[in-house]
Amino acid sequence: MKYISTRGEAPSLSFEEVVLTGLASDGGLFVPETIPQFSQEEIASWAGLNYKELALKIITPFVDGEIPEADLKRLIDTSYSTSSGKGFRHDAIAPLIQTGHNEWVLELFQGPTLAFKDFALQFLGHLLDYVLKKRNQKVVIMGATSGDTGSAAIEGCRDCENVDIFILHPHQRVSDVQRRQMTTVLEDNVHNIALKGNFDDCQNMVKASFADQSFLPQGRQLAAVNSINWARIMAQIVYYFYAALALGGPQRAVSFSVPTGNFGDIFAGYLAKRMGLPIEQLVIGTNCNDILHRCISDNDHSMKPLTHSLSPSMDIMVSSNFERMLFDLHNRDGALIKAKMEAFKAGEELKLSDEVLAKARELFSSYRLDDEETMAVIRDLFDSTEYLVDPHTAIGVQAARKMRKSLSTPMICLATAHPAKFPDAVKQAGQDEEPALPHHMLDLFERSERYEVLDNQLADVQAFIAGKI
Ligand SMILES: *Cc1c(COP(=O)(O)O)cnc(C)c1O
Repeated sequence: MKYISTRGEAPSLSFEEVVLTGLASDGGLFVPETIPQFSQEEIASWAGLNYKELALKIITPFVDGEIPEADLKRLIDTSYSTSSGKGFRHDAIAPLIQTGHNEWVLELFQGPTLAFKDFALQFLGHLLDYVLKKRNQKVVIMGATSGDTGSAAIEGCRDCENVDIFILHPHQRVSDVQRRQMTTVLEDNVHNIALKGNFDDCQNMVKASFADQSFLPQGRQLAAVNSINWARIMAQIVYYFYAALALGGPQRAVSFSVPTGNFGDIFAGYLAKRMGLPIEQLVIGTNCNDILHRCISDNDHSMKPLTHSLSPSMDIMVSSNFERMLFDLHNRDGALIKAKMEAFKAGEELKLSDEVLAKARELFSSYRLDDEETMAVIRDLFDSTEYLVDPHTAIGVQAARKMRKSLSTPMICLATAHPAKFPDAVKQAGQDEEPALPHHMLDLFERSERYEVLDNQLADVQAFIAGKI
């Protein structure tokens, strides 16, 4: 399988190369040259497979023989293990909970950091280490986090021999739980930097370091594990199949509702559909940072200022993975996408043609919630079911309820974070008690921490990194 850029100019890559690569050299994102297809009979034959067995089926055609099957199986087994004490906690990996008539919540927060990013980053960490070892190569991962992604990346890389990971967070501006999830990982290759600045300062420092990597020792390169990495999307396709099979697919179609920011998670759902899984509806749920909702409902893909919401992991101005969708919606015309995206970056409007908009609306419906409606959903759902959801999940549930077309098709709402990750929002929603951390994390506040507080100076940060590798 070859991987091609959405902007049509960068040379195509093999699977292993694409694992090691972020953005394409032409500014585009990598996608597989062809989308693997499964027949209904084949999908039906997977009923009863456990999560790991199913993951092997789904991922194999994307890897296309570049990694021997026994190795791929081992990588998947390690990534979705429940036995190490560090990985997933629930034997189903992605369990389903019923919250209404034919309405289900798919709990994607049973991983080590209590958010769905573990699905991608547990696998990416092991995969990256495997590819690097084969190539006798080492990399330095550098990333900025406002909370969630950093901890998932650290958990994914803590056992990697060929990766040193440096995560910058704004000093005293992430929650105690979020900081401790990162700083209590004490492996030698894990380094947390608390920068005396805000999240943008952290991000700018990472960008500047990628642009000029001369501060690194010879032979070392920076790598990114951000949400545009193809392997992350690929790993997320699996749970769409897993949930559908559990509820009678492929003989019976199902629908999904996805709280989304960068369009990574729901793009994986779109791919599952393209691969042959019968999906009736794909519902996009956004918070007030609603570029995706405006694009689908009003053909308005304009940038608006960032608003801080109760669902901070979806606070974005532009959805980076949407370019992959635009590429498919425009019949994979790379030159056209390049022109459109460059014009957009230069300040021009990005309008969809009537035909493209109609195609997008056939694939997706969308709904936007403000913080007030989000809190009301948390409250109402708890009142009616005693099931507590986090604010991101609440957005998916409400989007499903508002946009659902058929009550006879199971509606699966993706739960992207454990409510204990967002205790303040849950309390604001009127719950008396803070949601408890799962038992394996109850000692989080007793564990020792290690992190370095650094001034907001590029030279200081780079000297620190160079000194640690
Ligand atoms: C990252 C994140 C999202 C958004 O995921 P995308 O792939 O950007 O759409 C939603 N909820 C939570 C809790 C997240 O961490």
